[in-house]
Amino acid sequence: MNRRDKIPVAVLGATGAVGQRFVQLLADHPWFEIAALAASERSAGQRYGDACQWVIPGDPPAEVADTVVAPLNADLPARIVFSAVPSKVAREVEPRFAEAGYLVCSNASPFRSVRDVPLLIPEINADHVAIIETQRRERGWSGLIVTSPNCTITGVAVALKPLDERFGVRKVFMSSMQAVSGAGYPGVASLDIMDNIIPYIAGEEEKFQQELAKLLGHVDHGQLVPADLVLSAHANRVPVLEGHTVAVSAGFEIKPTPDEARDLLESYQPPEVCRRLPSAPDRLIYVRSEPDRPQPRRDRDAAGGMAVSVGRIRTCPILDLRLVTVTHNTLRGAASGAILNAEYLTAQGYAVE
Ligand code: NAP
Repeated sequence: MNRRDKIPVAVLGATGAVGQRFVQLLADHPWFEIAALAASERSAGQRYGDACQWVIPGDPPAEVADTVVAPLNADLPARIVFSAVPSKVAREVEPRFAEAGYLVCSNASPFRSVRDVPLLIPEINADHVAIIETQRRERGWSGLIVTSPNCTITGVAVALKPLDERFGVRKVFMSSMQAVSGAGYPGVASLDIMDNIIPYIAGEEEKFQQELAKLLGHVDHGQLVPADLVLSAHANRVPVLEGHTVAVSAGFEIKPTPDEARDLLESYQPPEVCRRLPSAPDRLIYVRSEPDRPQPRRDRDAAGGMAVSVGRIRTCPILDLRLVTVTHNTLRGAASGAILNAEYLTAQGYAVE
């Protein structure tokens, strides 16, 4: 795509932990061009380079460092809006952008569980965009909202999808070990998390059940039908910077052997259209055979942080199968995942006005 043909995009919450990832990834994107960076009143009017406390390696991209941060109003020179604002802000502003005609690709949680809003990971549920038609018709929006799943359940859903297609997932027991960057910046106080584990993350466990059922559900006559499964979760915050690890036990309609599960995960092929998207990884699932992998520090960057690493695939004496997943929470679980969603919408023609 020529520079002049690139689609103008805006980032809401551009100064935050996820917003910075968006800016880093979009600064050199083949299809999209940053046209506006928006944040709270605290930052609006300042140079982007001054307004944000850059928390990822390197410096803010030179081409946007001098951009003046805009306030969060639905009057930005963009076609696609990436939302990385806190939930209570997203609940209010995202519908305003969708109503005004923008394609909103959100990382926030308020609309993830809403019936007519796709919760999208294109490689596993691209067909869910069919409910956008219902969303637009019923709400009278010329734009739309598509959400990315919770960063922890993303890896679990990717690992379970190939198994669900063949064996039918019915029960999931999971214990998460979630990185501190998942709490944003400044996030958890160092005196709380160093040398420690916090066995509670507000609201997380409820989201896992709802979102996994939605991600593995199907579309029937324009309506999303959630998968029939039950989930029990323990959400823990651990002293890791990036990369969420989840220990999963799953029960199936038909019990798979560990070898069958490994083969399915290794051979899983997302739909062809997804493989042509610029942010798509060369391989979605990296199966690790070492007894002590995956690990967040060693595996979170697989395929540029876009692949889910799965290992320790073995039988479970209580349910059927046990495995461990590692997913990069601010890349696949947040900014890169939402950019992939925008690429998929673009490939499907939604970005054409
Ligand atoms: P964060 O570091 O706290 O950043 C929040 C951003 O929102 C900042 O740019 C902030 O701007 C802006 N903001 C805050 N209050 C605002 C207001 N009243 N009006 C307008 N803008 C406001 O948070 P984060 O970790 O990046 O998370 C952002 C969203 O992504 C959240 O909804 C979170 O749940 C979701 N998410 C996070 C992760 C992760 O791994 N961190 C993963 C998936 C999803 P100022 O700098 O001007 O205050």
